[in-house]
Amino acid sequence: MTEEEYSQERKRMVVEQIASRGLRDPRLLAVMEAVPRHRFVPLDHLNWAYADGPLPIGFGQTISQPYIVAFMTDALHLIGSERVLEVGTGSGYQAAILGQLAAEVHTIEFIPELSAQAEKVLQELGFTNIHIHSGDGSLGWLEAAPYDSILVAAAAPRLPQPLMDQLAEGGRIILPVGSRGFQQLEIWERRGKKFKHEASIPVAFVPLRGEHGWR
Ligand code: SAM
Repeated sequence: MTEEEYSQERKRMVVEQIASRGLRDPRLLAVMEAVPRHRFVPLDHLNWAYADGPLPIGFGQTISQPYIVAFMTDALHLIGSERVLEVGTGSGYQAAILGQLAAEVHTIEFIPELSAQAEKVLQELGFTNIHIHSGDGSLGWLEAAPYDSILVAAAAPRLPQPLMDQLAEGGRIILPVGSRGFQQLEIWERRGKKFKHEASIPVAFVPLRGEHGWR
């Protein structure tokens, strides 16, 4: 497929999978239309790069469904000045979307091989505001804290305390919480010492590992 054909596929993805489900922020839709998802997908799945679902990326992990990437990004209410933490770099696609809508992104991946591959693609695409780290993201990434927004792209048994501690005043966290098989997205917001949270849509993410994940 040519780049022009991929670009047409992306336009269709945005209209049919994202805008049609109620996400209408023009900045978000423009970024979803611009970032080449096919660059983050393994070669043997290229034909499905713009399909309406997650895809395997090796090591038993997945690149999330485009709609879920858009939904989680939208829930952070980014205006462009934020420092964002992502837990679960995976392919690097979600980080690329965040990198277009925030000032600075720190993303952590548990599996070093995935981290290295994501770094390579993000470098090739010219991202300079995305910092990739290898390690246990259930502990957050203290070196660059506090964060205005935190997005966890793996299913947690509960919101990890270190992530609450590393969230800035007024900041938002979105993460899937529930069992290993099924979860709900939860959106947390910090107001001084207090946190309020609401449950959102049902999802099925791969498990969060590490100290505050599933053992
Ligand atoms: N955001 C990714 C993307 O755009 O491709 C998809 C993430 S995938 C659904 C979940 C990722 O979280 C996997 O790559 C997995 O290895 C990673 N992960 C699981 N537990 C982790 C942890 N404690 N710290 C960092 N990454 C973790």
